[in-house]
Amino acid sequence: MKDITKKYTNDEITIVWKPSVCIHSTICWRGSNGLSDVFNPSEKPWIKPEGANTNRIIEQINQCPSGALSFYYNNEQENQI
Ligand code: SF4
Repeated sequence: MKDITKKYTNDEITIVWKPSVCIHSTICWRGSNGLSDVFNPSEKPWIKPEGANTNRIIEQINQCPSGALSFYYNNEQENQI
């Protein structure tokens, strides 16, 4: 499987998503704990970093069980991911 990495940036962080790692748990977007304003697989692009504030996005990324979602601060080096 190809090791594709997708990135989505707001003015503070860059959300990194690795589709080959995603196990489609739906945790990031489904239900009351999901963040469908940012993570919505029925839309393109499916991640919209402008849909919530940065802290809320980070909170959601940290719940991803597979590690498919990660992030780095735009003012830091990318090698943190
Ligand atoms: S929470 Fe992580 S593993 Fe689950 S669908 Fe979202 S990106 Fe994929």
